Amino acid sequence: MTQPSGIPHDLNLTEARPTFVTHLECAMTGEIYEADTPHNLSRVGRPLLVRYDLDGVRKALDKAALTARPQDLWRYRELLPVRRTEDIVSLGENATPLIPLPRLSEKLGSGEILVKEEGRLPTGSFKARGLVMAVSMAKAFGIRHIAMPTNGNAGAALSAYATRAGIRTTVFCPEDTPEVNISEIAIQGSDVYRVNGLIDDCGKIVGQGKEEAGWFDFSTLKEPYRIEGKKTMGLELAEQLGWEVPDAIFYPTGGGTGLIGMWKAFDELEKIGFIGSKRPRMIAVQAEGCAPIVRAYEAGEEHAPRWEDAQTIAWGVRVPQAVGDFLILRAVRESNGYAMAVSDREITQGLAEVAQTEGLLLCPEGAATWAAYKRSLAEGRIGKHERVMLFNCATGLKYPLPRAEQSLDRHQPIDYARFG
Ligand SMILES: *Cc1c(COP(=O)(O)O)cnc(C)c1O
Repeated sequence: MTQPSGIPHDLNLTEARPTFVTHLECAMTGEIYEADTPHNLSRVGRPLLVRYDLDGVRKALDKAALTARPQDLWRYRELLPVRRTEDIVSLGENATPLIPLPRLSEKLGSGEILVKEEGRLPTGSFKARGLVMAVSMAKAFGIRHIAMPTNGNAGAALSAYATRAGIRTTVFCPEDTPEVNISEIAIQGSDVYRVNGLIDDCGKIVGQGKEEAGWFDFSTLKEPYRIEGKKTMGLELAEQLGWEVPDAIFYPTGGGTGLIGMWKAFDELEKIGFIGSKRPRMIAVQAEGCAPIVRAYEAGEEHAPRWEDAQTIAWGVRVPQAVGDFLILRAVRESNGYAMAVSDREITQGLAEVAQTEGLLLCPEGAATWAAYKRSLAEGRIGKHERVMLFNCATGLKYPLPRAEQSLDRHQPIDYARFG
């Protein structure tokens, strides 16, 4: 592949590096599954986690070597499942910036607030992290047709990467998914359908069509590699903080892939000697109109039953039931975190507040983490000295925004004093 002059070739995508996957493991029972062959859920219907020879990684990788590599998620290849460089399907998965909110923290009298700005990734959301990994693995396995239920962003990332890999895709989304998502899924090459139901209804269609349509089920956590891609958020943020973790992470939780992935990342980083035993408190943020994890957390339950009549403007977290519910709840509890629901009103107000104070346009899900942080601070659940990280998971430009109504007639005299 030729590169434009002046832009260094990304060695992360081409250099042969050792890989360390040993096996997969049922997250519920610990039962072991063979690596290097396609899998969906475990025998008991729960997610599979990828396991590595972490002693091997520890010997093969040091911080200095990592620092010298190009700034994308493929820099962590020793902790990723893709074995052969020719299977990497990349659209430029750049490291995303940590953007501080100094004015808002001054206003609140709080500790440092950092936003992990994931809207800068290909397809405009952090779903790119999960899907670039899962699609690269699908390519390695020779999978030819993938199907997925989506609230929008996952389908868009799947569509882009699968097309790039030459894999066919069929995507089902709730009929009120933001238009731009449906359009981008379609134009990037997927066969996309609006379904009169929610994401888990779409998931049923994918599951039931497996035999006859012959597709591979890419629902959240129903294949093992999206977690590995999302895990790079944890690797990356720790590296960006000089191999430290923040005091708390506010994560907008739908299927929970990112929260589970980051929790796994911290564990692996400790085992390879890159970080110590400190963990951030993991705070699962949901919307009041769809808060199954919050309800289960408060009830002290290990699983989160389906939330009926789910409704929120934060589409990414409108997930009535998560197959990885117990993993989310486990990470939240082990980290001494909690789960919190915010209202659509707090989300809308928070989105405007951050945009107008800091010039940073969040997506509704990202605004939910801001709202949850504010409330946590007010309720004393987060201390005024604590350094927190909020997740903005998608570019705010993907969502309907309030219309600006002012107009001006250039043929009439203009009263310039009004602008003064
Ligand atoms: C998918 C998505 C989420 C939820 O992420 P999970 O890791 O699946 O819980 C939140 N916000 C946006 C914008 C999303 O696309």
